[in-house]
Amino acid sequence: MKLPIYMDYHATTPVDPRVVEVMLPYFTEKFGNPASRQHQFGWIAAEAVETSRAAIAKYLGVEAREIIFTSGATESNNLALKGIAEAWHQKGSHIITVSTEHKSVLDPCRRLEKSGFQVTYLPVDEYGTIDLNRLSDSITSKTLLVSIMTGNNEIGTIQDLPSIGKLCRDKGVFFHTDATQAVGKIPVDIFDTNIDLMSFSGHKMYGPKGIGVLFVRNSKPKIKLTMQMDGGGHERGIRSGTLNVPAIVGSAKALELSILSMNEEANRLRYLRHKMYDAFTNSLEDVFLNGHPTNRLPNNLNISFIHVEDNALMMSLKDIAVSTGSACSTADPEPSHVLKALGVSNDRLHSAIRFGLGRFTTEAEVEYTIDRVIENVNKLRNISRPFRRSSNKVMQN
Ligand SMILES: *Cc1c(COP(=O)(O)O)cnc(C)c1O
Repeated sequence: MKLPIYMDYHATTPVDPRVVEVMLPYFTEKFGNPASRQHQFGWIAAEAVETSRAAIAKYLGVEAREIIFTSGATESNNLALKGIAEAWHQKGSHIITVSTEHKSVLDPCRRLEKSGFQVTYLPVDEYGTIDLNRLSDSITSKTLLVSIMTGNNEIGTIQDLPSIGKLCRDKGVFFHTDATQAVGKIPVDIFDTNIDLMSFSGHKMYGPKGIGVLFVRNSKPKIKLTMQMDGGGHERGIRSGTLNVPAIVGSAKALELSILSMNEEANRLRYLRHKMYDAFTNSLEDVFLNGHPTNRLPNNLNISFIHVEDNALMMSLKDIAVSTGSACSTADPEPSHVLKALGVSNDRLHSAIRFGLGRFTTEAEVEYTIDRVIENVNKLRNISRPFRRSSNKVMQN
């Protein structure tokens, strides 16, 4: 076993060597610009892009022209929200989202509020789940879009997407989901779920950084988006800019590998995660699971070790890469907005560690992590204060 151990797969993932391999020719001999229509260099690059687009569409069960390439999920979310707001403001000026969304959804919503949109931020229960009745009651004749993530990047909670999608379709409002943590990890059925727009990212599924996808439904209903970056009118006029050909080829391969191994991998990660959770709860007192006990991403374990400060524990785990709160806001000392939204005690907010498991996580790494965590929690607790016995719902899935 090699140190340090990477257990932060929600922040990013290593590129699978099989992905690197298919990308390499597109940096060197096949370097053409797919927008160059006049010569072979361009044709070869364009063909690679279209083959990749078709493959991604096939794995998602949609049409190739419904796949738009962006620079990442942040851009996909921005394009979905601002693009729909700009194109459809006549239809409605109200957007509904959730308080536990990623900042790349929440911040565009804040921006839209400044330009006259009204945004409802739905609360969640202590497991991070929204109330469907509350969502239904929030939809008015002015509602244009509902944006709700598939699986949460901090606490792993999976929302009831099929019910949300059906509700949106019945009420005639558009439905966007940030599926960055879900695509390739759990089944996501765009058709059955009535998803109109869906964002995800290469680097969260063993592909390269700097590439994202936005699924944009092309029929029933056809979703028109206003481009947010003016330029050459690439990607059917939805997203200008020279396409990142190696990353596009890589993300198609990454998605293929993830989908093909999805069930097996999910079971393996669930087993490893359970091993960690069971060890923590059997050996330590005052251990709380954050997120939903059953409806959660298979690779996510978010645990509060009460009476232990999250950063102190993280620092004590010198050769294990984990995260406190969200990796995207580590410059921010405040507890994460996601944990805060759960309405749990301050103790839990300040002692939460996120373990993100992934394709290259081994059982030996999990065992080493278990030992180090138990050892350091005990050490830190002995120098702080005594504990009392308590814990919450047992994780079953
Ligand atoms: C990582 C992440 C993003 C941002 O993706 P980038 O490709 O890094 O811009 C958005 N949403 C969720 C849920 C994420 O986990």
